[in-house]
Amino acid sequence: MENQKALERIKNYSGRPVRIMEVCGTHTHAIFQYGIRQILPDTVHLISGPGCPVCVTETGYIDEAVCLAKKGAVITTFGDLVRVPGTEESLAGARAEGAKVRIVYSPLDALAYAKSHPEERVVFLAVGFETTAPASCLAVKKAKQEGVGNFWLLVANKTMDQAYRTLAGSADAFLYPGHVSAITGMGIYRELVREGISGAVCGFTSGEILTALAVILKRLQEGKPFAENCYPRVVTEEGSPAGRALIRETMEPCDAVWRGIGTIPCSGLRLNSGYRAFDAREAFDLPEMHSRPNPACRCGDVLMGRITPEQCPLFGKVCTPADPVGACMVSSEGTCSAYYKYSIR
Ligand code: SF4
Repeated sequence: MENQKALERIKNYSGRPVRIMEVCGTHTHAIFQYGIRQILPDTVHLISGPGCPVCVTETGYIDEAVCLAKKGAVITTFGDLVRVPGTEESLAGARAEGAKVRIVYSPLDALAYAKSHPEERVVFLAVGFETTAPASCLAVKKAKQEGVGNFWLLVANKTMDQAYRTLAGSADAFLYPGHVSAITGMGIYRELVREGISGAVCGFTSGEILTALAVILKRLQEGKPFAENCYPRVVTEEGSPAGRALIRETMEPCDAVWRGIGTIPCSGLRLNSGYRAFDAREAFDLPEMHSRPNPACRCGDVLMGRITPEQCPLFGKVCTPADPVGACMVSSEGTCSAYYKYSIR
């Protein structure tokens, strides 16, 4: 659908009020950047859901990483996680006190570091959805094949399908994330349709977002559950069988705690029995964390679409990207960070 045609369809929408949840932080930022909210009719509400892996990583996981760092492990991680507050401190705080925290660009970078520093004990923080999980799986598979004995994963990978079921009551339709869908394929959405859950897979250009929104509005008016692929140049029916095979080979489903949302059954991944020797929790005998997220932070309500970030009393005053209180303000893909960047002048 051409941009102009999609734009006209959206502007002329005359159906009932609807809520559309974008579950990808990149979409949240793109929607702000292209000014898409401003052209929506009053009856179309966009809700920013839990689409950023850092934002949904619970406080207890940060506490575990800090604990590992204090036990002498070299923590390797993507940059965003370093500033996420734990109960007492962040990884940045631990690093300031002398802990070794290294920023890497991929799990394979972390593995390469471990191989070149055999005297160090290296842990990679494996967070993220289906998009990034295969890379962690590949790293641990190579570590096993090559007999690397000083490399472990602290796994908090999550999968999206159960999250859609948990969030289904918060929206009439989802703007499904293009990156995740490139791995899952359309299969998971066909299953969701059978349960009455609707949405459209969406790319990241203004035209792709407008098209997906126009398609969602049209299909909602038709009144039947649907799953549309509006990002066919990247997302196929089958997705990436190789990526999913890597996940199956090294990991297994488990219940997972989502920051602010709680436990969602079977929405997480952990290393399976063949790879348990690479599980940092077991290797370092990590104790159970008694974590306490900041009670003033409303990340959970933001992630569930119950409030916008501006409705959090700390937004822009106590909590800013330079001094974040919650994970949603830390990550470059976080909802609070997007609202701050595009609405605070
Ligand atoms: Fe949490 Fe800050 Fe967002 Fe408020 S503005 S919900 S404190 S991250």
